[in-house]
Amino acid sequence: MAAHEHAQALYDEVAEQQEGTVDAFKTRLIERAQEVRQGVTDTVRSNVATTLEHASPEERVQMADELDRAAEGIDQALGGSSLTLKKLDENVAGEAQLGADVICIDPRKITGGDGIVDAGMAKDILAHEKEHTRQSAQADAQQVMIRGESFSARALREGGAIREQERIDFLSDEYRSIAARLLVDSEDQVLIRAGRFRDLEAKKNGQMPVALAA
Ligand SMILES: [Zn+2]
Repeated sequence: MAAHEHAQALYDEVAEQQEGTVDAFKTRLIERAQEVRQGVTDTVRSNVATTLEHASPEERVQMADELDRAAEGIDQALGGSSLTLKKLDENVAGEAQLGADVICIDPRKITGGDGIVDAGMAKDILAHEKEHTRQSAQADAQQVMIRGESFSARALREGGAIREQERIDFLSDEYRSIAARLLVDSEDQVLIRAGRFRDLEAKKNGQMPVALAA
């Protein structure tokens, strides 16, 4: 549907230009929706502006409504978080610093579904990145063997973060393969957070009961 595609193009444009807080991004989307409703096109990139000039009043209302819904979706999924919305590398939806309260999410990578923003996916990406911030940057091993399969420290941390997601359908093949090969239970999660990969390896191989530190 044309109105949806145009609304998506307007969203993408905001996502390209804007870097900052969830609130700032939301505000910009709502402003843009207002501009579309009022037919203001001079702040819009030229090819999108041309589209807007040719849009019927009904189409403009539809586009504006979609942008408002995108702002709501962003707020619902990410509101109240201190993360930064910004452009990230291709194929990277989110980034976090281990053991620090630093999260970035790319607003262009949380789209899909019926509207512009897939709020469920956005929530899952935030839950995933939040888990990375709980994980220690220190670890007692860089590689472990679990039932004959080798896992890097990175794969173990990803396994821990993926456990926090409700859906994994949007993940890359690599991440889905980690999710399939490494089943993380709540005790494993604690060991991964602490970087106790040797204990995790022993537990997973059934070699010893692990006393969990608080
Ligand atoms: Zn991750």
